[in-house]
Amino acid sequence: MIRKNYICGEWAGGAAVSSNINPSDTNDIVGEYAHADSVQTATAVEAAHAAFPIWASTTPQERHDILLRASTEIVARREELARLLAREEGKTLLEATYEVGRAGQIFDFFSGEALRIPGEKFASIRPNVEVEVTREPVGVVGVITPWNFPIAIPAWKIAPALAYGNTVVFKPAELAPASAHALTEILVRAGVPKGVFNLVMGRGPVVGQTMIDHKNVDAVSFTGSVATGRRVAMACAGSMRKFQIEMGGKNPLVVLADADLQNAVGCAVNGAYFATGQRCTASSRIIVEQSIYMRFTDLLIERMRALVVDDALRPGTNIGPVVDGTQLEQDLSYIAIGRSEGARLAYGGERLDRQTPGFYMSPALFLDADHSMRIAREEIFGPVAAMIAARDYDHALELANDTDFGLCAGICTTSLKFATHFKRHAQAGMVMVNLPTTGVDYHAPFGGRKRSSFGSREQGRYAADFYTTIKTGYTSA
Ligand code: ADP
Repeated sequence: MIRKNYICGEWAGGAAVSSNINPSDTNDIVGEYAHADSVQTATAVEAAHAAFPIWASTTPQERHDILLRASTEIVARREELARLLAREEGKTLLEATYEVGRAGQIFDFFSGEALRIPGEKFASIRPNVEVEVTREPVGVVGVITPWNFPIAIPAWKIAPALAYGNTVVFKPAELAPASAHALTEILVRAGVPKGVFNLVMGRGPVVGQTMIDHKNVDAVSFTGSVATGRRVAMACAGSMRKFQIEMGGKNPLVVLADADLQNAVGCAVNGAYFATGQRCTASSRIIVEQSIYMRFTDLLIERMRALVVDDALRPGTNIGPVVDGTQLEQDLSYIAIGRSEGARLAYGGERLDRQTPGFYMSPALFLDADHSMRIAREEIFGPVAAMIAARDYDHALELANDTDFGLCAGICTTSLKFATHFKRHAQAGMVMVNLPTTGVDYHAPFGGRKRSSFGSREQGRYAADFYTTIKTGYTSA
């Protein structure tokens, strides 16, 4: 059975079909998914455009009820959806279960936000005049997502878009359409009216490009690579439409000599290697104070040895496969690059064979890395971390900030002084103290600085800044 696009309230086939392959076992085909072409994509945009005035005038209660029904179904089917997600993306069943739960929480949260659309009233500087600030939906939102969080990232874009009264055209990543398709079925069952939500699967340069070039897409929310993010920005800026782009990271985890080392090792392992290192918030640079460098290295490698790399669905697996063959080649090429640059590969970085044919790789740790090396500057997006020695706290902070990216920065320390200073001076959108750089709350703003992000923040009530536009009203009494 070929799974279809959802355009203007109808399930629609496509010009082409792709197989969704399980990276833990390439003999396992998760499903066949139709690809939309540019004409179908434009039809979806037109449908969303036509549905907008009606959806924008629904009551908050109607939108709340639909989003809550979606949340309830996601939570009720958590185990089944998690298996599907782990099969298509390769994260472990535990990680996938957590992600599906998160998607459910996000729909729940924004069902409530639909009832709490904020506004403000000012006293005017003029007599007998009232000033009020209200928020209105933006219009058609184009949602373009990556493969690494195939249900949570769509949830944190689609739920606020719908809650605030926008209509949506959703283009998921080519590698992970199954979770997106399942989410679409859930939204349809939850009662989203015709044209309000559309799913167009397929290739970025066809479906995505048509969306970002279409004049009736009023805003684009994108998560993915820097190169595509720049395309989105240029297309939207050229026609003065709203956009929000979330891209990569080269997130530092600083470990000071006074840190609780067991906790710091846990933060490093979680941040660098869980979800196979395929998170934009992954700790790919571990900056360790010189005096504890060797001790920390020993403890970290000891912990890494215990990590089980295997089939994502197998109980006991800590790290699933890399998402596909191209990504695996890229990860392995960075192992060669790091070696040729003079860093010392202290652990892992090898292709592994398991019972089933899959894209397995042992988590890799480079020692003696220098912050000028490519492995310390470029986002690898795999289970590869570079350890860099710092003379002291000031040097560690300088190294942490010496990057083109600025999504998240972490520090492990028991010093209030250093923790406070780091929180103030780390050039990142998110700062973690004694926690992994990965793992955030869904009701707090998410986003970064520099080349990591551009536009207003995602998640929590800060999402209203993107998914609404402000109107200032003046009334003379
Ligand atoms: P990743 O490395 O995470 O795959 P990409 O930026 O290539 O990063 O992909 C993120 C999303 O952007 C995917 O859904 C992809 O299909 C889409 N995409 C790729 N090229 C384009 C494009 N030219 N215009 C719009 N979207 C695109």
